[in-house]
Amino acid sequence: LNPTMAALVFCGTIYALQQRLSAPRGIARDLLAALRQGQLSLAYQPQTDRDGRVLGAEALLRWNHPTRGPIPPSSFIPAAEEMGLMPIVGGFVLEEALTTLVRWKEDPRLSALTLSVNVSASQFNEGDFETTLRQLLERHPIDPTRLRLELTESVLIAGLEPVANKMTALKRLGLTFSLDDFGTGFSSLAYLRRLPVSELKIDRSFVVAAAEHDRDAAILRSIRAIATDLGVETVAEGVETPAQLAFLETTGCRIFQGYLFGRPMPLADFELSVIAPQPRAMPAAPELRPAP
Ligand code: C2E
Ligand code: MG
Ligand code: MG
Ligand code: MG
Repeated sequence: LNPTMAALVFCGTIYALQQRLSAPRGIARDLLAALRQGQLSLAYQPQTDRDGRVLGAEALLRWNHPTRGPIPPSSFIPAAEEMGLMPIVGGFVLEEALTTLVRWKEDPRLSALTLSVNVSASQFNEGDFETTLRQLLERHPIDPTRLRLELTESVLIAGLEPVANKMTALKRLGLTFSLDDFGTGFSSLAYLRRLPVSELKIDRSFVVAAAEHDRDAAILRSIRAIATDLGVETVAEGVETPAQLAFLETTGCRIFQGYLFGRPMPLADFELSVIAPQPRAMPAAPELRPAP
């Protein structure tokens, strides 16, 4: 390698690195501006029983960009994570969620609902996450058992012991925990026994496949068996069809979240759907459909 070539390779590498870094950095800069300008909001997706009675909601972050339109969390959350912004973004989410719970407390038709909030691994594992929550709960007087923190198994990157300790401390404040996307990570019974979770969220991929493939049906049944063994609830994610619902019911699953029961929606729409529920538009059986 002569010096000129070496210099070229070097410049090329730097250029590639800058390219790689600038994409998330661009998004991150825009995201901070979006936060200041009120472009971020929460959407609420119902969690229901088999008959569609709403038990609670999952709060999902939405970014509505004035020119680019809605930007999906799958594209900006990883960038925010990479740039170390999740504590800030997640702080906004918690602030909004607690404001909503204070609002619901005043209305007997809404006060029993739970609100699930996604907490990223970096946000949870940050040193003062516990203090942050303590302070939030002081400023927003709510029944803490209504707030459910959804964690994925990726939090365990910080080690089982510290994570279990932090969860236990937060549980003492009254908060409850849900393990999100369950079945896609390193779900081991040994880990699970140590974590004070009250709920497992069965990942959508199993829900979609289980009604059709024996192998996925078997996984789903064993997740249900683990949940029963641990004495925790299960929520099935991404339920889209009556067939999926029917199969899930055979496994003993009783809480559902998915397009079959409702899409993520603005707060006002969600509240209305609880206060004045419309009969669920179940797809009619083929023989009942009017002739075209
Ligand atoms: P998640 O926590 O597993 O959320 C469930 C995702 O499934 C949501 O996607 C929801 O809109 C979608 N979903 C619900 N029902 C159905 C269905 O029947 N069919 C299909 N195809 N999809 C369904 P969304 O809102 O795009 O969020 C994607 C992911 O982004 C979330 O997955 C979560 O990991 C992350 N996320 C969203 N909001 C936040 C947040 O406030 N903080 C953090 N840390 N992560 C968030
Ligand atoms: Mg979630
Ligand atoms: Mg999930
Ligand atoms: Mg998921």
